[in-house]
Amino acid sequence: MTNIVLFGAPGAGKGTLAGKIKKFSSVVHISTGDLFRANIKNETPIGKEAKSYIDAGQLVPDSVVIGMVKDRIDQPDVKENGFMLDGFPRTLEQAKALDEIASLDVVVVIEIAKEDLKKRILGRRSCPKCGKIYNIYNDELKPKKEGYCDVCENTALVQRSDDNEETFEKRWNTYLSQSEAVIDYYSKNEGLVQKIDGTRTMSYTEAELRSILKM
Ligand code: AMP
Repeated sequence: MTNIVLFGAPGAGKGTLAGKIKKFSSVVHISTGDLFRANIKNETPIGKEAKSYIDAGQLVPDSVVIGMVKDRIDQPDVKENGFMLDGFPRTLEQAKALDEIASLDVVVVIEIAKEDLKKRILGRRSCPKCGKIYNIYNDELKPKKEGYCDVCENTALVQRSDDNEETFEKRWNTYLSQSEAVIDYYSKNEGLVQKIDGTRTMSYTEAELRSILKM
């Protein structure tokens, strides 16, 4: 069993990489962003609370996120197979709370510059049915048929409502102000943090990640 944290700015490729890893590992992918989007779609109390923060490019309060992640980590599939967290922790408080509920094997930090991220965010599309992530500006991640999912043939791809230029700037600033503290916190633990270059091609980054995870 392996417990992994995938850490990186919005658009760094966490979700895409997690999707690749899932193909050859039973480790459970937990994306807090996806959990929030599902809660919003189902109009749950968590979804109602989270929506205004997400639309504004701000972080949802720690108490809400931590409770949601605790509940997910407590599920039998995670207990059996371990987890790959994507988008959590994003604050020092969250990192400390995670330490209380699980022990981590590796924290993978995906490094990438702001200009590259912006392009990725604005080009990101996803399938509302299977969740597969595409990018219209990246030949490796383009859908075969423009605008449609490769897997769920006739399903039109959608763009996340927070993947626009204005919200990206806010999300980037939030990342800058919070991320350092999380990386510093994990760096105290020798050998825990592994950095990968997120500016390379997706296949290169995937190979680097697989070698770190020994998968
Ligand atoms: P993501 O899909 O990871 O980019 O997350 C989308 C949005 O969900 C973020 O911009 C935040 O508003 C919210 N969110 C996701 N994960 C967290 C978290 N760990 N802490 C606070 N807010 C989060």
